[in-house]
Amino acid sequence: MRQQEGTSTRAAPKTLSCDVLVVGGGPAGCAAAYWSAREGRDVLLIERSSHPRERACGDALTPVAVGELIAMGCDPGAARWHLHRGLRITAHGQSLEVLWPQGARWPNYGAVVRRPRLDALMFASAQAAGARTLTGIEVTAPLITDGHLRGCRAIAAHGGDGRRGELTARARYVVIADGPRSGFGRALGTVRTRTYAQGLAMRAYYPTPRHAEPWIESVFALTDSSGDQLPGYGWVFPVGDGTANVGVGLLSHHYGNKAISLERLFEQWTQQIPDRWEIDPTGARSEPVGGRLPMGGSVRPRSGPNWVVVGDAAGSINPWNGDGIGPALATGRLAAEVIGHALDTDDGLMLRRYEAALAERWERYHHLGRLTTRALGRPGLMRKLTQLAIRSPRMGDLAMRVSTDLLASAGGPKTPRRIYQIASSVARLWRDRT
Ligand SMILES: Cc1cc2nc3c(=O)[nH]c(=O)nc-3n(C[C@H](O)[C@H](O)[C@H](O)COP(=O)(O)OP(=O)(O)OC[C@H]3O[C@@H](n4cnc5c(N)ncnc54)[C@H](O)[C@@H]3O)c2cc1C
Repeated sequence: MRQQEGTSTRAAPKTLSCDVLVVGGGPAGCAAAYWSAREGRDVLLIERSSHPRERACGDALTPVAVGELIAMGCDPGAARWHLHRGLRITAHGQSLEVLWPQGARWPNYGAVVRRPRLDALMFASAQAAGARTLTGIEVTAPLITDGHLRGCRAIAAHGGDGRRGELTARARYVVIADGPRSGFGRALGTVRTRTYAQGLAMRAYYPTPRHAEPWIESVFALTDSSGDQLPGYGWVFPVGDGTANVGVGLLSHHYGNKAISLERLFEQWTQQIPDRWEIDPTGARSEPVGGRLPMGGSVRPRSGPNWVVVGDAAGSINPWNGDGIGPALATGRLAAEVIGHALDTDDGLMLRRYEAALAERWERYHHLGRLTTRALGRPGLMRKLTQLAIRSPRMGDLAMRVSTDLLASAGGPKTPRRIYQIASSVARLWRDRT
């Protein structure tokens, strides 16, 4: 294992060199660093904050995300995170419990874990694989010479001695994993397509005696001031530590794009939490915090001559349900693979494979998701679709599989799967609004 830089900002040398520089140490950056380091690459990961750190999130891991984590040596069972066996969908006064399906690639369970624990474990995993890491260091700008990206400039976020020490990191390849705002990506020319919907979400922790429930719950009952159902949902995700993560998510594109206060929507939702959770809406253990969810492959380009963009920085969040950790881990892994090919062959053109791999894995899924999120903004459609899903276990199963990207899992009723395939084929005839 290579010697680690550790977390001391004072000890940071002025100039560092590496083969693979990773900007940002969330799920996407940790996965990219882990998979690159495991292949013996010389990796340097720079993270602005220090782990453990807070991050606004619902904390729910789908089976896809759990599968990615296990592959990285982070086993939610061994770590004693709260495991769940399915999704409870609630709408129009009815509930449907749908078990996670057994898949060849994924386990048949998910997990809920607070982000400080999740991120600290993934970070440690990347370090154990051999990645050098720096925390408390903020990347301030790309380092560009002769029009070519050579690395980054960075600064100690909180110099212990009051000085703000600068450093330069030189790299052959750069992975941009700096989250939804992605200042580094924007500096290199990445842009979010604003006509695609993005998510807005907010959460807080509440005590509940049902904190160890084996179900996570999504409730489709959010309405605007005229009583029309909004394209979004409220959630209760039991954390297993005496609390549940309670939150609300909304698509930015709803009819008329009327300004809706997320705070007010969160407040509305806390009054609607199903009684079975025994949650006192006035008893939050934390201030509500929120954030943006760039989704559906909305950021382009996602690669350049010697850089690739992963996770939220690439707009990778699942447009069907707002799940971003699984896509962050998967795009981080893909990035490590293509950079590995480029290093092995000494051919930067290999990075073109990244866009191709993203398109092969997600483009059809995202395209249908983008069209659906656009359609859901029309008044009345959200109500009709949720009525359809809640009345039939088959449609509920389909809704769960589609929304959590588990269509490839075995089993389940054949007809709804066929419906999805037809819808996905027909959707190819519709172009995105740009
Ligand atoms: C309220 C809310 C609820 C959500 N609920 C869920 C959920 O239940 N399940 C789910 O799967 N997803 C959920 N998501 C989405 C999920 O949180 C993100 O998709 C996921 O965190 C993306 O990982 P990432 O590594 O791409 O970005 P991040 O987790 O944002 O990590 C980016 C990292 O880069 C660092 N960074 C940024 N700029 C710099 C810089 N200049 N220099 C150095 N470091 C930098 C940041 O400090 C951060 O650590 C939710 C999001 C929100 C806002």
